[in-house]
Amino acid sequence: MILVVNAGSSSIKFKLYETNDKNSPLPIVEGLAERIGVDGALTIKIEDQKYEYNDRYDNHLMTVESILKHFKELNVIKNELDIEGIGFRIVHGGDKIVKPVELTDQNKQAVEDNIKLAPLHNPGALTAINAFQKGLPKAKLVGCFDTSFHQTMPAKNYLYSVPLKWYENHKVRKYGFHGISFDYITEKASQILNKNKNDLNLVICHLGNGASMCCVKNGESYDTTMGLTPLAGLMMGTRCGDIDPSIIEYMAKELNQDVYQLTNSLNKESGLLGVSKISSDMREVSKAAIENHDEKALVALEMYTQRIAEYILKFANQLEGKVDAIVFTAGIGENSFITRKLVIDKVHLLNLKLDNETNLREYDDYLEISTNESAIKIIKIRTDEELMICKETLKFL
Ligand code: ADP
Repeated sequence: MILVVNAGSSSIKFKLYETNDKNSPLPIVEGLAERIGVDGALTIKIEDQKYEYNDRYDNHLMTVESILKHFKELNVIKNELDIEGIGFRIVHGGDKIVKPVELTDQNKQAVEDNIKLAPLHNPGALTAINAFQKGLPKAKLVGCFDTSFHQTMPAKNYLYSVPLKWYENHKVRKYGFHGISFDYITEKASQILNKNKNDLNLVICHLGNGASMCCVKNGESYDTTMGLTPLAGLMMGTRCGDIDPSIIEYMAKELNQDVYQLTNSLNKESGLLGVSKISSDMREVSKAAIENHDEKALVALEMYTQRIAEYILKFANQLEGKVDAIVFTAGIGENSFITRKLVIDKVHLLNLKLDNETNLREYDDYLEISTNESAIKIIKIRTDEELMICKETLKFL
């Protein structure tokens, strides 16, 4: 079995896969441990059964021990040896890590070195890695990084037009995120379109709470919308995306706030929530806009979809118009037909034709939503980052 772990500073999300068939691992258990260090709340789901525990755990190691104890009680595993590999989702791998790696001391050091670049994410992952290493000392530990897929970007796309010394001495560059999802979607699109990955050009819109897009050229990341941090690019649930950087100095004076307070507002009080003043959740914003004709929600929805449309055009231009498909994925991309429609309505010049019926239709893992007249195929695909991590981890066993 392989355990896939997505850990933060106070939570551990996990999914356990049975891997008898290496090509299609089977998820058998999933769960979430929250409030680590506060009081502890653990949920384990097996098929439709949900088990809730209120064990007290003060740290990640106690949480891991509690998860393993309940796995045994629930007959999910007989003993620790049943879990042969653990795949960790890690946000920042910097510019050295270009693919999934075994978490040796040296690679763990790289995760630590990149804490500066991802102070909210890498520390939780590192603490969890150490805890699982102690709790399951025989398991192979593998790290999958959100940044690594983008290490193929050319310098003209990853550099900022700032003093080059900032890059040379301080690593200021575009890293990009959501790489595990973009990697999965590229693989999946290659199967759907029956086209070799090395010849595949895609524009992928990963629209979740955090949102970013990727320009995939010959199966590799050529450009992306997020930057040094996940704050750049598209408008998101609570993040601002691209803005004039001078706003920070201006608002610092207006509000008498420091740069940390302002960055916090740009991360947590902006985007759909900031503009609509209603919610960061697309379901609520689109409902307010369409059903209640709420003006602020309508503007938020227009801004949100306009920016995606413009990046589609930019990336199609970078691909010299040779785009095999435009893909929508993640919570909003997979489920919000109104977002997809508003985006495609705003893309001119490319002769896209959305099929309104398939755009609305329920689907399992993917569905083509363009008509035969569309110059480029448009597809909605359900992403599966955990499965991707599981498969990558399997390669190390
Ligand atoms: P995360 O980045 O946290 O993984 P998700 O990929 O789960 O986020 O996406 C969350 C977003 O997806 C929310 O804005 C939510 O409103 C949106 N979403 C989920 N289901 C639907 C739906 N049926 N219609 C519209 N939006 C949806």
